[in-house]
Formats: sequence, C-alpha cells, structure tokens
Amino acid sequence: MEEQHIWILPDLIASQIAAGEVVQRPESVVKELVENALDAGADTVAVTVHGAGKRLIHVVDNGSGMSRADLALCIRRHATSKIRTLEDLYRIRTLGFRGEALASIAAVAQLEIRTRRADAPVGWRLLSEPETEPRIEPYAGEVGTQVLVRNLFYNVPARRKFLRSELTEFRLIADTMTRFVLGHPLVRFLLSDEHSLILDVAPGRLEERFATLFGSELAERLLPVNADYEGFRIWGFVGHPECARPVRTHQFFFLNGRWISHRGLSHAVYTAYEHLLESGTYPLFVLHLEVDPERVDVNVHPQKHEVKFEDERQAFSAVLQAVRETLGRHHLALTVSLQAAAPPLVVERTEEGQPLLVNRLTGELVAPQHIEGRPRGAFPTGRVHPRGTASVQLLPQPQISPELTEPSYRCWQVHNTYIFWETAEGVRIVDQHVAHERILYERFRRAWEEKRAVPQRLLLPLPLPLEPAQLARVEELWEFLHGLGFELQRLPHGGVELAAVPADLPAGQEEEILRELLAVGDAETAESPKLDRLIATLACRAAIKAGQTLSEQEMKALLQELQQCFLPYVCPHGRPVVVELHRRDLDRLFERPPVPGAGVEPARGVRPTGF
Ligand code: ADP
Ligand code: MG
Repeated sequence: MEEQHIWILPDLIASQIAAGEVVQRPESVVKELVENALDAGADTVAVTVHGAGKRLIHVVDNGSGMSRADLALCIRRHATSKIRTLEDLYRIRTLGFRGEALASIAAVAQLEIRTRRADAPVGWRLLSEPETEPRIEPYAGEVGTQVLVRNLFYNVPARRKFLRSELTEFRLIADTMTRFVLGHPLVRFLLSDEHSLILDVAPGRLEERFATLFGSELAERLLPVNADYEGFRIWGFVGHPECARPVRTHQFFFLNGRWISHRGLSHAVYTAYEHLLESGTYPLFVLHLEVDPERVDVNVHPQKHEVKFEDERQAFSAVLQAVRETLGRHHLALTVSLQAAAPPLVVERTEEGQPLLVNRLTGELVAPQHIEGRPRGAFPTGRVHPRGTASVQLLPQPQISPELTEPSYRCWQVHNTYIFWETAEGVRIVDQHVAHERILYERFRRAWEEKRAVPQRLLLPLPLPLEPAQLARVEELWEFLHGLGFELQRLPHGGVELAAVPADLPAGQEEEILRELLAVGDAETAESPKLDRLIATLACRAAIKAGQTLSEQEMKALLQELQQCFLPYVCPHGRPVVVELHRRDLDRLFERPPVPGAGVEPARGVRPTGF
C-alpha cells in the first residue's frame, strides 16, 4: 500500500490556527468584543481586565442580547448574523461580519457568555472550554450581553510566551478603547482594571471626548472639519499647526465608524499642512469619513483595520480638500505679543561680568545711573543680541485687517526689508521677501495645477551646456518644467536650449534658477512633496530680495496680492510672513523701567545675576 502523507487537521487545531489571525493578544479580544457590543446596538459598554487581559477580559453591554438558539451558534466558526450572501459583503454597515471572533476566542480560552434579550423572560449562560462540549443553562440577569474570557492562550503556551509585559499589553488595550471613544461619540465607554476605574466617558461631542482623553489645552486648539466631496462626508477636526508634534500620535481616521489605518489618507492630511509645519512634526487629527459601503472594501484583512477604496485617488482628494479648506478658513496670522509679566528691560552681563540693562525689544543697552553707582555713559556702547525677546503666537485671524483695503493707509519700508503699516490695533510688519515668496508659490502652484502657465519668450534661445546627469534630470522634469512655463527645446546634436521662462522670473538669472531646480528632488505627481519643494525653490529664487527698495505703490501691490493668498501668513518654508505688534505691547515698552533687583525677571536664556 502506498504511504499517505496528507491528513485533515482536527477541528481544534484548525480553529487555533485560524484564531491566530484574529486573536493575537488581549487587545484583539477586547476589540472584537466591543465591536460585537456596538453591532448589537449597545449605548454603554464596560470593559474590565485583570492581568492586562491575560487572566480575565469582561465586556458588558446593554445591546440586543441573544436568544438561546443564537447563543448556541455564536461560537461556531462562520456563525454570523451580519451577512448572508456575498453581495452583503459590499454593503457592510456593521463592524463585524466574518463570524470568526467568538469561535477564535473559544479555541484559545475559557469563555462564558451571559445574555438576555429584552423580549425574553429569562436569559441564558454559555460556558465553553476548548475540547469540551459547551454547556448552556438559564441565567437571570440584565438585558444585554456579558462576555468573560478567562486565561487567554492557556492551552497555547507558544502564544502566551509572545505576549509583552502587562504594562505594554494594558497600554494596547487602552489605545483600542481610545479609538472606540473617538469613533463612537454617542456611546458611553468604561474601562477598569482589577484595581480601579480608569476611564468613564459619557456620550458627547467629539471635541469633548477628545478633551476628556487628551486634556482641554490641546482640545482648545482644534479646527473643525466639515465637508462633503463627491459622496464622501468628512467631519471631525484637525489640530492647529501650533500643536504639531514630532510623533504621529493623536491621528485617527474612522471610516463609517470603524477605526482604520490608511497611509494614503494620512498623506492627504500631511499634504494639506504642507509648509505650515516644521519638518519632522506631524499634525493631530480626528477625521470621520462616511461613504456608501459599496464604495469600499473592508474585507482586506482579518482584523478589518485596512480598507480599500473603490477609487483611492478620490478618497485622497476628499481628505485633502476638506483639511485644506479648514486651514484656509482659519487664516493663520502671527502676532507678536510681549509677555505681560516680563519687564521691558533685562539684565545681562558684560564679558567682564559687569551687569547691564538691555532693552528686550531692540537689544540696545540702557544705562540707568543707579546701577552700582556707575555714571551714565560709562557702559560699553553697542548692541547685545536680544535673546528671548518676545513670545510669538500663532493666532487664528479671520483675514488681514480691513485697513489693507483702504487706499488711505500708509506704509513704510524699513531697512529696505520690512514693510510696516499701522492698523487699529497696532502695527503690522511684513518681510518683503517672505511675502513675495508666498505669493509666487501660490501663483506657480496654481499655474501648474490649472495648466495655464505664462511663459515669457527670451529674446534669443539660451543654449544650456549640461552634463549627462543633468540632461537626464531635464528629461525627468520635462513635463513639470513646461507646466510651470519653462520652454526647453531639444537640440539636434543632443543638448537643450531654453526658449522661454515663467513670467515672474528675474531677468538675467534664468539659467541659474533652472540649474538650481535641476538640483532639487524628483518630479512626481502633483500631490508629491517633492514637486512642492521644486515650486517652493522656484518661488524663493524668483521673489524680491531683502535690501531691494520698493516704492509705496509696489509695497501696496505686494500687500494687496498677499491678501488674496490662500494662506497669507506663512511662507512655503514655514516662516511667518506677517507679524503684529500690538498697541498695548508698545505702550508697555515705554513704562518706567523697574528698579533692577526688585523683581527683575530674567528673560529666557539670560543668566540670573546676583544683585
Ligand atoms: P461577527 O461579529 O463577525 O458576526 P462574531 O464571532 O464576533 O462574528 O459573533 C458572532 C455572532 O454572535 C454575531 O454575528 C452576533 O449575532 C452574535 N453576538 C456576538 N456578540 C454579541 C453581543 N455582544 N450582543 C449580541 N449578539 C452578539
Ligand atoms: Mg464580531
């Protein structure tokens, strides 16, 4: 007889293997059980864990409950009340649908389910243990369902060994609860461990829940998002650029109530924040997407965290537009506000250790006679670089002040670099280069996006001697360069010549600027940050420089155009464009200086002195 090498695995082993996909750790059990509670329509879900879920996970809900027949079935593999046909898979409105969670849990733990329907006089309790027939007995309890999972993985030591410390496992559970709290604002959630109640959040608005979880200080810096775009409803909020952080925490996407992780969508948010954040920092956001379930496939992964949109680009654009629109609506102006508590004069020391009074704002030395009896004028002259002079705050500003639109407002150029103008509240200052950079950046970007660049012909085409690598780069960037208004022509013997350039380029620097562009990143799609970097470089090179004299007319034209910008307050590299000195801060500068020693507060970075 021939040997047989293949056999069918016993049910339990098959279930344990399958369980590995759904249940990897206590956190996954909590997630599956809470999803079931929400699918059952519960508006209160209480989770208790002992030993970070290794000893006990207990989830109580006030949802629909189950009949005896359903209870007997629910721990079988592929038992579900949520879909019946394959088509249903593309109409999913519930969090679960695969019918494998309870079966998986039953294969790797002792499981007890207590349940009662509102229309049933009595409830039922199921007790199950791997490798034994489950028992069902009557149960007298509340309407709803309680699931108790004891000694997870006690029969799969290999899995148990892979669990992390209790601290880590508990943190993962808390993270999952956080997602439910933000994903289902109208449900009350409780989380306890063996010692205490850790979380109890009442139903409320999304912002309130965020505040409960992360503190009201952060919650005050949220900008609401509310948009409809080609069948996508997007709501929630994004954080003010000021609360960006160096880590990607506090970022949440929910698709029809399900927490999802989706790199493309995160990228859409980052794209909207482009140039509003310092590099290496990330915005916070909580965004709910609602879309017809037929347009998304949620059955990509057993844990259902990944989804595929029918049209990924459309989803990307929807998020990008929604966030852009929010940021645009909250024009962000920089206001310089001198700290109220800090005196205008601070104490520094000379290199020889002599005390000096320094004007915080200007850096000038002030020499009141009473410092150690020195006569006026005996101080070294010159300037000390002001350190920690002012606190710069990003404030939401509905729009540039109306003064700008009135023809009578006056403006001055200072050091051929800054434009000052008076407003009702104080004085506003614009850095001419940075402002022009912002204007050009938006102009070039629009030209590229709307395919209507304005090329300006050169009198004579300019031959460009290029190395092979640079030539290859020209080919790579060909479309992009032409989209912006550069016209290049391939020469018969192999080189290229420049026939036209974008209208805003300063004369005589065309070649230099083009070469600089060739040295920056790659050309990619319009959403790519690299393309953006190219446009930012072009804007920077083409913008007027510090030191250039402007007529009043030119200044006003610049300010007018700045006002038309989508984001007038930050340059493409993230520097402020407009700052405001408030009248009350100016007044404060001219108050009588405090007597040194009597409560002189040193500014940041200034060493306290001994007198
Ligand atoms: P799925 O959620 O994918 O349907 P599960 O194994 O998680 O699969 O649950 C199986 C079935 O058990 C569910 O379809 C549901 O009918 C029932 N069920 C599970 N948990 C609950 C609960 N907390 N309340 C009411 N019914 C539940
Ligand atoms: Mg389920």
